[in-house]
Amino acid sequence: MPGNADLQTAREQLVSYCGRMVADGLAVGAAGNLSVRAGDMVAITPSGVSYADLVPADICVTTLTGEEVDAPETPSSELPMHLAVYAATGAAAVVHTHSAEVIAVSATSAELPAVHYAITGLGGPVRVAAYARFGSAGLAEAAVAALAGRSAVILQNHGAVCYGATLPEAYDRAVLLEWLARVYRLARAHGVPRILSQAELDEVAAEARRRRYGQRRQR
Ligand code: 13P
Ligand code: ZN
Repeated sequence: MPGNADLQTAREQLVSYCGRMVADGLAVGAAGNLSVRAGDMVAITPSGVSYADLVPADICVTTLTGEEVDAPETPSSELPMHLAVYAATGAAAVVHTHSAEVIAVSATSAELPAVHYAITGLGGPVRVAAYARFGSAGLAEAAVAALAGRSAVILQNHGAVCYGATLPEAYDRAVLLEWLARVYRLARAHGVPRILSQAELDEVAAEARRRRYGQRRQR
């Protein structure tokens, strides 16, 4: 079990990223939810609490199987989806947004295609998981299935889920996904977009690895 200091850090980080999520337009009101894994515990946002009112003491802590350890409020209705992502991947943080461009794609397409090479940062074209009611086991199952080989999934008529090794990484992916969906919409307004081939995406991924792109030098 992680120390109280780890959980307190997670609580503060989650509240700060909830504020960013609203400021960046990735969610409104109390929509969406965020979690961080600390050892065998998960710190997750409470259900239905407006981000404008959220404080670190409102963050809930559960086990990896969903038993409440410290729940000052009801844990997010999407706790099953967050836990399913932790069980299926190496994630240490999960971000669920209700961002507008992504939802627009979800209502019209089966995937967000590779309209820009930065999509390699999410593992490639992002699948749209079939609609299932919010908070349902079916939604958790559909999301995890559509995440195979990806760090992001779009939920039909609902939003998106991104994960990462840290909360900043998961959050940056949610921002990237929304930007890609916007680029796709703009491209479609101009005509029929050219889509990158799998070979072109593989080449980008190989070059990013070779360059250790995004990794800073040790000083
Ligand atoms: P919660 O407020 O229960 O986290 O639900 C918001 C949401 O996005 C449901 O999918
Ligand atoms: Zn949602």
